[in-house]
Amino acid sequence: MTSSSTISRRRVLKGAGIAALGSGATALLSSSKLAAQGGAPAIATNNQAGRKFKAFVKFSKDLPTVVEVTARGLTGNQVLLRVEAAQTCYSSTDQVLLNDERIPTTNASIVGHGGVGVVEAVGPQVMSTRVGDRVILNLHGACGRCFNCLNMRSDKCRSGQAGPQQPIATMASGAPVFGRTGAMSELAITGEEMITPLFYQGVSPAEIAMLTCVGGCGLGMTMTNCPVDVASDVVIFGGGPIGLASVMGAKLKGASKIILVEPIQYRRELGMKLGATHVVDPNQFTTRTPIPNAGGNSDHFKDALVDHLRELTKENHDRVWSGAGRNGPHHVIEAVGGDRLKPRNQPQGPDPTGVTVLNQCWELGSSIGSIVTCSVGHPNDAFVKLPAAQWADGAKHHWPGTGGGTNDRRDSGRYVRLMETGQINMKALVGKTYPLSQTREAYEVCAHREVISTVVLPNG
Ligand SMILES: [Zn+2]
Ligand SMILES: [Zn+2]
Repeated sequence: MTSSSTISRRRVLKGAGIAALGSGATALLSSSKLAAQGGAPAIATNNQAGRKFKAFVKFSKDLPTVVEVTARGLTGNQVLLRVEAAQTCYSSTDQVLLNDERIPTTNASIVGHGGVGVVEAVGPQVMSTRVGDRVILNLHGACGRCFNCLNMRSDKCRSGQAGPQQPIATMASGAPVFGRTGAMSELAITGEEMITPLFYQGVSPAEIAMLTCVGGCGLGMTMTNCPVDVASDVVIFGGGPIGLASVMGAKLKGASKIILVEPIQYRRELGMKLGATHVVDPNQFTTRTPIPNAGGNSDHFKDALVDHLRELTKENHDRVWSGAGRNGPHHVIEAVGGDRLKPRNQPQGPDPTGVTVLNQCWELGSSIGSIVTCSVGHPNDAFVKLPAAQWADGAKHHWPGTGGGTNDRRDSGRYVRLMETGQINMKALVGKTYPLSQTREAYEVCAHREVISTVVLPNG
């Protein structure tokens, strides 16, 4: 087979557009085309080294700020994106707003949990994407080679631990800058294992950005490792972006009852629009008293919220020999976590540590039911207490993990497909958008729960 097309190095260097220079080289986008797009200026070198761009960087003990950094050259399977949108994850509150001393400050890093962008350059080993592709920069890598990937848990891919991370840029001071998921930036530089090319129409970058971390996690909790089954009853704790994505996933999977437990009214109302069949305000059911000598029974507490949710998911007959005997919903989804900041002008949940909810999930789940948890931010010295006999000899299934079971490279594309066809509505989760210069404000609004979430558009 012969090829009728040839690549002219001279034509490429004249800025004729996108071309691959062959083995060992890096794809180019012409400087004139890049300049026409606005934002970070382009430097038409073959590996992008020296290209300056603005990024929201955490460095030393200071709160992160927008600074100019300089790209290092792309190598291996690295990809450079012009970032279109990136969502603000509540779990970054410690890093962005509170300056938590537990977070290492020796290295500079670009803030963010992924985003959406257009590929502008690729390293010589990249195979799955090319210049001009819109891609999602996922929170979790999916290398397909590590132990966890090979055992069907790419949401726990270990590629991030495959040797020391390489800096992607340099501060004006010369300090190295890291950040393989850092999309609060005009440009993002990451590994190929972190991205998924997208081939869909009519879906905005802001709504796709909701999939990174929170939205993908919520959908994964109901659609992947522990998929909700048709006609089942599902209780979802937490009506933030993760919980609301879970509501949409549960509806899509055919659940009959979808009960959202959430203290903030506007979130409950949105939950009903997105597919919840019932909503419950946990602040109406706060009585929780220990039951002495409960033995192996999981009900070590008389809990008003658990009792109410059981009542809502009660079977409509009690004939055990005719299939009855379930005590609790089929699936319990937890998307609450520990509060970092109090909601502004909105009610706080009954337990700001988020630990009581974890206990309630266990208590509520039926004897063979599934419990899916994903949250973070609990106090360091907090423990979940489980009845030993239930834990050792029961048949409740627990599926934990911040990825919710989503294999980002496999699932991100199909989630966007669901957005394209209108089967899920991530646009409803995008509360406000901000330019890069207001990234901290975007995190504040998100952390105070003034809207469901916020999205930064680094290139306007
Ligand atoms: Zn996140
Ligand atoms: Zn892996």
